[in-house]
Amino acid sequence: MNDSAVAAFVARVRDDPARTAVAAVVLAATYVLLGRLTFSVSVEHSNVTSVVFAPEGIALAFAILFGPRVAWGVFAGQMILSIWSGPSVLGGAAIGAVNSLECVLGAVLFAHWRISRRFERPRDVALFVTLVFLVLQPISATGGVAVLWALGAIPADAIPASWEPWWIQGIQKPLPSFDLVPSAWIHWWIGNSVGQILIAPLILAWTTAGISRRPDNRSDLAASAIAIGAIGMLAIALPIHPLLMLGVTYPLLVWIGLRRGLRGVTTANVLITPAVIWAGASGRGFLSHLSVADRLTYVGFFVATACVFSLMLFAMFEERRLLVARLEQLARQDPLVPLANRRYFVERLEQQLAHAAHSGQTLAAVIFDIDHFKQINDEYGHAAGDLVLITIAETCAGLVRDSDLAARIGGEEFAIVLPETTVEAAGRFADRLRAAVANQHRKEDQPGTVAITISAGVAVVRPGDNVDAVLGRADNALYQAKRGGRDRVVTAT
Ligand code: GH3
Ligand code: MG
Ligand code: MG
Repeated sequence: MNDSAVAAFVARVRDDPARTAVAAVVLAATYVLLGRLTFSVSVEHSNVTSVVFAPEGIALAFAILFGPRVAWGVFAGQMILSIWSGPSVLGGAAIGAVNSLECVLGAVLFAHWRISRRFERPRDVALFVTLVFLVLQPISATGGVAVLWALGAIPADAIPASWEPWWIQGIQKPLPSFDLVPSAWIHWWIGNSVGQILIAPLILAWTTAGISRRPDNRSDLAASAIAIGAIGMLAIALPIHPLLMLGVTYPLLVWIGLRRGLRGVTTANVLITPAVIWAGASGRGFLSHLSVADRLTYVGFFVATACVFSLMLFAMFEERRLLVARLEQLARQDPLVPLANRRYFVERLEQQLAHAAHSGQTLAAVIFDIDHFKQINDEYGHAAGDLVLITIAETCAGLVRDSDLAARIGGEEFAIVLPETTVEAAGRFADRLRAAVANQHRKEDQPGTVAITISAGVAVVRPGDNVDAVLGRADNALYQAKRGGRDRVVTAT
């Protein structure tokens, strides 16, 4: 599926309650499966949640894409996950309620703060990081840890034996004492934050249309894949210093962001993460010399900083790239009509002259000017005159080939450069344009209006010509067309 098909699919799911319900079921199922998977690679010691809790990232992305209505999928998923992995049905319901509200709030604030799904400005990344780390996950961690603490505070003999199967059975255990609350909160907060910052941008990047494409470059893609694989191997195979690990990972992510855009950078982050989690969970590679608690902290820190850093740098470069492209476009564009301006026209004509001199190809230029334009302005006003200029420019833009360049070079004076065009062909082209304008504004069509016509001069490049010489000859021909009675084309001899 191409970009717009994916975007249309997302819109269809969002706008149709039945499809949204299916999306919520998919979310619930994914939440359970990924939740269980991430629990199983988490280290139990002093840890209440997984190191990178991916389901929260999927939940946030789904709520952003399909609307807050999918949030009951979080509740259902968390319930099932809790029955499977602890703490209890009651605890699961409470945690599920908190997390689904947190997910709704995430979607609402994402829209309210106008965060772009393309993350093309630093503000988008800064606001998204703020949303995840400072708004959503403090809520989730506080709710979740409060539930675990409350469950831990219930005396074991207060639970009827018949409830036992539904009670405490899983990986997520109630907290037996308040002393454990602060570290449990930190782990919950960082694990879920990393899950969101890692997974949500990936899903948004691959489902949003208008993500600026990089030219498809297979060698870049292969180099990125090899580098990601090498970094993964490095992370689990060699006992290198964690800072060295960061030192090689960050530049790679920046390079991928520059070469492969948002999709590349979010994908790279996700691909590197399993190796980092594995190193942390099993005590291998760059984390082998650390204690379990430190390893967990390092994994969270590593993945979080890699994501934030690479997204932020991507956004800074992307904003700059878009700005430069916009400025270049503005610098080339006429402020009134949809054609190039004089500066860009002269620049391109100079290039074409050099190319023609080198290749020996023919090159033609046409200059045309609206007849009795002063009259139009005088009778109908300047605004109506501007509209005429725009209409004629549109007609001209519709007739030129891709390789030609049409520009407005003066108030109501236009020019076109026609590469690889003979004098006869250029003359025919100018006459087609003249006829098109005259037909468009035929007086009999609109009684009471003036007939609008143009006169044109055509010249071909001669050896040794510069811009002034060729435009001067075309201008002379135009002058003769005016003198000859207007609404005509004259070719310079
Ligand atoms: P001719 O057939 O000899 O070309 O007669 P003309 O009346 O068109 O004469 P000329 O080319 O000298 O007139 C230029 C007029 O174009 C004068 C000016 O008011 C008008 N003009 C120039 N730029 C603009 C513009 O941006 N908008 C409008 N509405 N009018 C413009
Ligand atoms: Mg004029
Ligand atoms: Mg004129």
